[in-house]
Amino acid sequence: TVGAVALDEQGRIAAGTSTGGTLNKDPGRVGDSSLIGCGCYADNASAAVSLTGWGEPMMKLVLGKWATDRVQMGHAPEQVAPDAIAYLYKRLGGHGGIILLAPDGRYGIAHNTPRMAWGVCTADGPRTGLVVREGQASED
Ligand code: ASP
Repeated sequence: TVGAVALDEQGRIAAGTSTGGTLNKDPGRVGDSSLIGCGCYADNASAAVSLTGWGEPMMKLVLGKWATDRVQMGHAPEQVAPDAIAYLYKRLGGHGGIILLAPDGRYGIAHNTPRMAWGVCTADGPRTGLVVREGQASED
């Protein structure tokens, strides 16, 4: 997956998610990435989100909308992102990653996959994340 969330100077947000799908997928499978509210969602009233990972559990939970609804309720994206991944795992044993951006510029990043490379670019310049989990690190 390549996912992106963006915020413009007027507080408008957007999300995009691109994928090749899962390994050995059935012909005709439609994954979470193309289903609005599952692997991708944005609403100026709540948040923008992009997800990666095993799509079936994310589709069952409509996880993108789950996360953005929580931001709209007033929860911080920094907390909602790990909560969404914990919910994904607890409910259906799912594995994935999330980037979540609120219209006020706060954002959350979380994953329970071995790696997820991510980067942040703001008016102050680009910042690239060093992702460390289970003794592995990948720098994007
Ligand atoms: N979420 C995608 C899918 O299940 C896979 C990916 O992360 O690219 O189709």
